Amino acid sequence: MSETAKDTVNERLRGLPSVDSVLSSPPAAGLIGRYGRERLAEAVRETLGKARESLLAGEGAPASVEEALEAATGALEKLFRPRMRKVLNLTGVAIHTNLGRAALAGEAAEAARMAALSCVNVEYDLERGVRGDRDGIVEELLTTLTGAEAATVVNNNAAAVLLALNTLAEGREVLISRGELIEIGGSFRLPEVMARSGCVMREVGTTNKTRANDYENAFTERTALVLRAHTSNYRIVGFTSRPALPELAAFAKEKGVPLMEDLGSGTLVDLSAFGLPHEPTVQETVRDGADAVTFSGDKLLGGPQAGIIAGRADIIKRIKSNHLKRALRVDKMTLAALEATLRIYLDPEKAVEKIPALRSLAKSLEDVRAMAEKAAPMVAGKLGGSAEVFVMDDVLRAGAGSLPEVDIPSVSVAVRDARMSPGELAEFFRRLDPPVIGRVEDDLFRLDMRCLDDVGELAGALA
Ligand SMILES: *Cc1c(COP(=O)(O)O)cnc(C)c1O
Repeated sequence: MSETAKDTVNERLRGLPSVDSVLSSPPAAGLIGRYGRERLAEAVRETLGKARESLLAGEGAPASVEEALEAATGALEKLFRPRMRKVLNLTGVAIHTNLGRAALAGEAAEAARMAALSCVNVEYDLERGVRGDRDGIVEELLTTLTGAEAATVVNNNAAAVLLALNTLAEGREVLISRGELIEIGGSFRLPEVMARSGCVMREVGTTNKTRANDYENAFTERTALVLRAHTSNYRIVGFTSRPALPELAAFAKEKGVPLMEDLGSGTLVDLSAFGLPHEPTVQETVRDGADAVTFSGDKLLGGPQAGIIAGRADIIKRIKSNHLKRALRVDKMTLAALEATLRIYLDPEKAVEKIPALRSLAKSLEDVRAMAEKAAPMVAGKLGGSAEVFVMDDVLRAGAGSLPEVDIPSVSVAVRDARMSPGELAEFFRRLDPPVIGRVEDDLFRLDMRCLDDVGELAGALA
């Protein structure tokens, strides 16, 4: 750089306002009120630093106070913007793990709010004024609803399986059918969980067929547990069999080891009442002889993220006294929401009305179609003339390892647009407020209507 060029750059650098002068300028006062002095000062410093760098590189002109504030505000708006936002799940997957799984029933959300805003007796015996048991909040409800003798709650079902395996079989062998070595999305792989819990996996049978005597042949004095797992996201069809639960339970009992079933989704109501395939309920699993059953709180149960272990009193007692439990315990808000959700199940007919996940799955196809007929003109109105918007029959999946491979009849609003590809349409809808999440299939952008509770919500997003 020549001497004169250097002089010009130096002059321009001197033309940059100081951080202090920007912060003490009149328009900064309002921004300090909104974002706080510390954040604003940092953003201004960064903005001026960038301006200095481009001047040194021989580019740009000195920023004015107003320009510096404008750039800083842009950065701060982005920083202060809420990241977790309400979205409309019209993906055709009812319980979508990436979208937070089950939406809570109103009363469950209210209970979580109460617990969040106050001190609560989460671990305090109000009658005796002494320390209580965290599980005491939900245990009676769980035993009433499932028929199990006792129950305990941890952070999620993965934690429930880990904790139960570690308690019941650390350093010893666990028998499991080769057809049940499941992997659930998000890296829950049964062989890995087994290893982490410190037990030795002993595979029995084959992928498609496992018989009772396969368990018999694998049983040794090192065997501590028989495990059965729900094949949540796949089905083995064709030439297949596995022992019925009562048969396996009788085997475990004869050998003097517990039988645990990882039920995964775990429903408390018989879904066949809504025309869905029958899923073994927690109650049936307990009744058929499982000594411990693990299931999720936020799948078909429709509550908060949690893992529930229900089972024999002596087994649950051992699990509760495992020190690992302390690391996996749930917080007061989860517990409050779970309690309120379980209370709804005391009257199973109310559960279907009040719990959003069940309500969506139980909704009649006519109701879903009526929703689609209302929504289609709104979508068409938003997109304008180039879009072809129509109502079509579709299929929905329960999702999150519930009802594997079951097609649930549904109705979608489908869009084809001369100006936008299906992917661009998906992006357009994601940018609405609240974001509307659909899916692309067969070159069509689709909005599945089964999980939309109120067409007004979609109207609001489109407005
Ligand atoms: C979903 C599932 C899990 C994991 O449960 P999370 O609540 O997601 O931790 C474990 N086992 C089975 C069979 C499942 O379906």
